[in-house]
Amino acid sequence: MIKKSASNSFSEIIDFIKSLYPEEIPVPLHAPRFVGREKEYVVDAIGSTFVSSVGEYVDRFEEMICRITGTAFAVATVNGTCALHIALDLAGVQPGDEVITQPLSFVATANTISYCGAKPIFLDVSRKTLGLDPTALKEFLKSNTQTTNQGCYNKATGKRIAACAPMHTFGHPCQIDSIAGICEHYNIALIEDAAESFGSFYNGRHTGTFGLFGVYSFNGNKTVTCGGGGAIVTNDETFAKKAKHITTTAKVQHPYEYIHDAIGYNYRLPNLNAALACAQLEQLDFFLENKRELAKIYQDFFGLLDIPFVCEPDYARSSFWLNAIILLDRKTRDEFLKATNEAKVMTRPVWKLLNQLEMYQDCQTDALINAQWLEDRVVNIPSSVRI
Ligand SMILES: *Cc1c(COP(=O)(O)O)cnc(C)c1O
Repeated sequence: MIKKSASNSFSEIIDFIKSLYPEEIPVPLHAPRFVGREKEYVVDAIGSTFVSSVGEYVDRFEEMICRITGTAFAVATVNGTCALHIALDLAGVQPGDEVITQPLSFVATANTISYCGAKPIFLDVSRKTLGLDPTALKEFLKSNTQTTNQGCYNKATGKRIAACAPMHTFGHPCQIDSIAGICEHYNIALIEDAAESFGSFYNGRHTGTFGLFGVYSFNGNKTVTCGGGGAIVTNDETFAKKAKHITTTAKVQHPYEYIHDAIGYNYRLPNLNAALACAQLEQLDFFLENKRELAKIYQDFFGLLDIPFVCEPDYARSSFWLNAIILLDRKTRDEFLKATNEAKVMTRPVWKLLNQLEMYQDCQTDALINAQWLEDRVVNIPSSVRI
């Protein structure tokens, strides 16, 4: 059998991806699709004059999120980053604390920990899910912490480990059930960064619903978008009320007086964006089916080329937000990125590990063997819904 040279298979991949998106050159990594009632709802919101943070689309958006995810409460925010900030803050993350997360994530996961004055600890991910590895979490907590009735303390730094923030990478649910069990055992608050996994389920349960809070992003590049937007979900009514209060400048209800009872944030989603979100959410099932079909096409295609394609774990139903392949090594990855982008097919490497960024270089980590292995090999390929 004659083995195809790498560059030959690169051009085969480029041609194939272009054939999947015949009308879009350059082929974007993930473009939004506005094929529903987006214009109608946005125009309606303008007509109502309620374009800012009060309006019926915001309420409707929150109701739809609750229905889709099966949570009792949702609070809409201007983006996923501030949703995560508030979730960590309300979970009790304070200056001087530490928060466990994964190094293979978008920078917002670590930044929001910093906004609370806390410091991230980066633990390894699973090669299969690309999310926080429960074995790494358990191992770290067992060997490096001491639990008192005040909480879980890091023996090396003396700091309290206040929370754990795993992330469902590219929409693929991590082993959240095990992670939740470990967090409960060690008395650590669980906050899911489900920014990428709206529409993804772990054993039939929506991601973002396993801990105290889950957060979603509705940024322009996510599965469902409202331009910029996010949401916090929780089943705890008291926390839901606090989340709404603190994201709306902590303003106390009064017919005309300006009274604020805390240092709040102006993080509330405008009605104009919520209008777009409502129209997008109406198409969620179509988006998810379409993306599932695309993932199957990719899986079959890359199977023939012997290139591993990142599939959903068997316990999960993934949103397949961003499709990903795993190349042979760093050199192949770099060659592939160059060849595809030059041919106007947008591909991107997975994020540089967060512990390697300037501001997080002094954070504690474990050996991060899988994270480094994945960073060297994982590339995202075009994943927009196909019309
Ligand atoms: C997109 C994303 C966010 C933040 O969302 P924004 O809405 O862009 O602020 C946070 N975490 C992860 C992992 C993301 O992918």
